[in-house]
Amino acid sequence: MVNAPLPENMKYCPRCAASLEWRPEGGRDRPSCTAPDCKFIFFGESSIGCAGVVLRDGKALLVQRGWEPFAGTWQLPGGYVEQDEVITEGVAREVMEEAGVTAKVNRAVAFRHSLGGTAGGPSANVYIVFALDYVAGEPEWDGDEIANAGFYSLEEMSQIEGVQGLSRWAIELTLNSQNDEGLLIQGDGPMANRPGWSLFGLQANDPDLI
Ligand SMILES: [Zn+2]
Repeated sequence: MVNAPLPENMKYCPRCAASLEWRPEGGRDRPSCTAPDCKFIFFGESSIGCAGVVLRDGKALLVQRGWEPFAGTWQLPGGYVEQDEVITEGVAREVMEEAGVTAKVNRAVAFRHSLGGTAGGPSANVYIVFALDYVAGEPEWDGDEIANAGFYSLEEMSQIEGVQGLSRWAIELTLNSQNDEGLLIQGDGPMANRPGWSLFGLQANDPDLI
């Protein structure tokens, strides 16, 4: 069988600069390094996004986008998780950077998987929405990337133009679930001692539910 040419940006190994060639791995042929000691395999481009539902007195934290795309619309604070960043720290960082609020992850409430070409990026994306416990701080914003920020009830949101549907949906999910219920960090799970690993598992307050 003759393979298609290697992708234009993936002809040489990004780790050791040796040539790549197609080799089978995990059920399909993938660009793989030909150097004997280099194990690089190109699995494709992807990214991880995160967003945080931070509730205070029944109201959720929203930020207004200052930049395109979708400038002027309101959404949950969030962004991309860095390659070397623990995801729970990434979402807390985004909440702080965009809205000046300190918050701590309680649970995962939703995720979306989208293929390339959406969300302004060329790569597949997994976007995870977390519920965070409010810790401290009043909403602050930079007036540039973020044009405004604040805590809003669902009723107040329905009076605001341009609240993103996915954000409102995730807020409703969070309001309709309990703290410490859902996909919780398993602090004593099998990855508890591995730096850089986070394991989330299902837990319900009502033991009949699981
Ligand atoms: Zn290599």
